[in-house]
Amino acid sequence: MTVRTRADLDALPSYVPGGTVPGAVKLASNEVSIGPLPSVVTAIAEAAGQVNRYPDSGAGALVARLAAKLGVHENQVSVGCGSVTLCQQLIQATCTDADEVMFPWRSFEAYPLLTVVVGAKQVRVPVTAEHAVDVDAMIAALTPATRLVYVCTPNNPTGTALHRAELERFVDAVPSEVLVVIDEAYREFVTDADVPDGVEFAKEQWARGRDNVAVLRTFSKAYGLAGLRVGYLVAPEPVIDVVRKVFVPFGVNAVAQAAAIASLDAEAELLARCGDIVAERGRVRAELVEAGYEVPVSEANFVWLPLGERTAEFNEHCLAHKVVVRAFAGDGARVTIGTPEENDLFLAAAKSFPR
Ligand SMILES: *Cc1c(COP(=O)(O)O)cnc(C)c1O
Repeated sequence: MTVRTRADLDALPSYVPGGTVPGAVKLASNEVSIGPLPSVVTAIAEAAGQVNRYPDSGAGALVARLAAKLGVHENQVSVGCGSVTLCQQLIQATCTDADEVMFPWRSFEAYPLLTVVVGAKQVRVPVTAEHAVDVDAMIAALTPATRLVYVCTPNNPTGTALHRAELERFVDAVPSEVLVVIDEAYREFVTDADVPDGVEFAKEQWARGRDNVAVLRTFSKAYGLAGLRVGYLVAPEPVIDVVRKVFVPFGVNAVAQAAAIASLDAEAELLARCGDIVAERGRVRAELVEAGYEVPVSEANFVWLPLGERTAEFNEHCLAHKVVVRAFAGDGARVTIGTPEENDLFLAAAKSFPR
């Protein structure tokens, strides 16, 4: 006898994490290459001494810190086990099997998987020829069944970010009962002044009576805590209420909560590191363009190489040069900006790729 499981999951591919190859440089998962600050390691060690106790299930201290920093009420913030868990909770909180989740494509790999796992329908809206989220096509794809829209900006993996005017045009076109979630996993790397801060943008929308705008952020990227799993959602209180109903109790562990608070204490130092990554992003892109590659301007800590049919070959070439990138066969390769030395290794591989 075989256990009966959900038939609709048979065809679902598994999430493919960025690869790790012993001895190779990993530029595949948009992590920061430098390890945690000593002050954060100390906080982790202190919290480790108390792991016989359950964590604070609501992460109250961290929520209070975030609310104060962002200028919102504590009932407008929810912490999750990585923002990817919050992505799932948002779908669970808004959709049943008749409902649709819309997102740009290509975009974050987790959106389609989580949508299918929850049992809702996915609507993928192709990015533009310039690899940007296509606001007009997304407006055109709205249906009466749309319940949730993910707007990933900067978009993973293409790196492009939406300007204020486009985001405003989109939010104005979405019915007020449809939740718009701005996924800002890479906000701290944005330098284009026309790209709005999502939280400030959301607060402006709430003030206009638009209670359907929310923002996701994470400690995994700029704050360097990918291994501990902490992210947060900023949303109107009714959205937070229902997101908290579908959470798994004690999901965010005590060590992660302590590390996130310590990272907020050390924010200036961490954001300075992001500045170094941004400078390297400019250098890497310039050298790639000089070498003849098409590279969209990136506002994140990675660059996108739309190599189409040559993507798999490029991936093999980089692996042979001991550099692990994130390849999406037939589409393109996403390459995380690492330390200057790591980036040099990647650039040498890219420049020696036969073209
Ligand atoms: C990395 C990433 C996340 C989630 O990261 P967590 O580690 O789960 O917090 C969410 N959205 C996008 C677009 C990402 O690239």
